Amino acid sequence: MIAPLRLRLDATALADNWRTLARMSGRAACGAAVKADGYGLGALGVAERLAGAGCRDFFVATWAEAQALEPLGLSLSVLHGVREEDLPAAIAGHARPVLNTAAQVARWKAAGGGVCDVMVDTGMNRLGLSPDDLPLLDGLRVHTLMSHLACADEDRAMNARQLAAFAGLAGRTSARRMSLANSAGIALGADYAFDLTRPGLALYGGIPRAEFADTIRQVVTPEAQVIQRRRVAAGQTVGYNATWTARADTEVAILNLGYADGYFRGFSDKGTAQGGTCRVIGRVSMDLVALDVSATPDVREGEWIAMDYGLPAATVLAGMSQYELLTGLGDRFDRYWM
Ligand SMILES: *Cc1c(COP(=O)(O)O)cnc(C)c1O
Repeated sequence: MIAPLRLRLDATALADNWRTLARMSGRAACGAAVKADGYGLGALGVAERLAGAGCRDFFVATWAEAQALEPLGLSLSVLHGVREEDLPAAIAGHARPVLNTAAQVARWKAAGGGVCDVMVDTGMNRLGLSPDDLPLLDGLRVHTLMSHLACADEDRAMNARQLAAFAGLAGRTSARRMSLANSAGIALGADYAFDLTRPGLALYGGIPRAEFADTIRQVVTPEAQVIQRRRVAAGQTVGYNATWTARADTEVAILNLGYADGYFRGFSDKGTAQGGTCRVIGRVSMDLVALDVSATPDVREGEWIAMDYGLPAATVLAGMSQYELLTGLGDRFDRYWM
């Protein structure tokens, strides 16, 4: 069945973004965070294409996400580690857990202790072992030792403090590789790259820092079909709560797209489509959006409309982060790569 809404995904832009980030990573390998279904784009499609471009290290959050990618036979790390419930999947599959806590370390050792990754906390106080706990890793085969930057998208003293804390751990474990930088961290400089970088957002067209503005390209464009076109007479209103009133007779197209698809209410009266030629009018509904199409007489029922979704601009309009705009894209979209 062909859905009335689809995500146009630019495979060349995705691969080019990875190559840009790989170049900026210098001698370090460049991996890819494909958690949350590849930031909403579809993890399988993303991972396949990035592997084709040369990416060799992939990161997901959970074992269910790892299982979904199993057919590709990639090197996968599961960022949330292993719970008791995950052990069967963790032992059977080929993904590596990223051990975060002393209990996870003990559990993985008791389960036989295959090759694993380890997250160490250097100040974010989210996931990770304390550096004092590193002796617990004795006897484990650690592949990659990681830490995560709390404010790489800003110029803050904390970045250098985390860098120094992480660099100080070199040689303290059996780890073959060290990895610190996410997308934004890659722009902080060569010191932050270590052996492996872990971009997510910028692969998908997100711009977490100005350094990426000229090189990272848009990957995702939501497209929706027109269900109805109508003329709204001057003085009439459009949509819930009648928030928009026509000043003059207005041609309006109603699209098969709404906040349940991740086209959020923040775009009400602000979003645009077709390269800025059409404006969203009134409230975004759950499954519908109204557009002023007075400037485009050829937009008829069944026509496909491309929403403007450049992430740096969209994030301002929607009042939401670029991460939320990507990961919110729902499963009613058909996803197609070009
Ligand atoms: C999500 C995540 C990344 C990727 O971060 P971006 O900001 O999207 O580049 C890297 N490392 C870890 C541990 C993550 O959780």
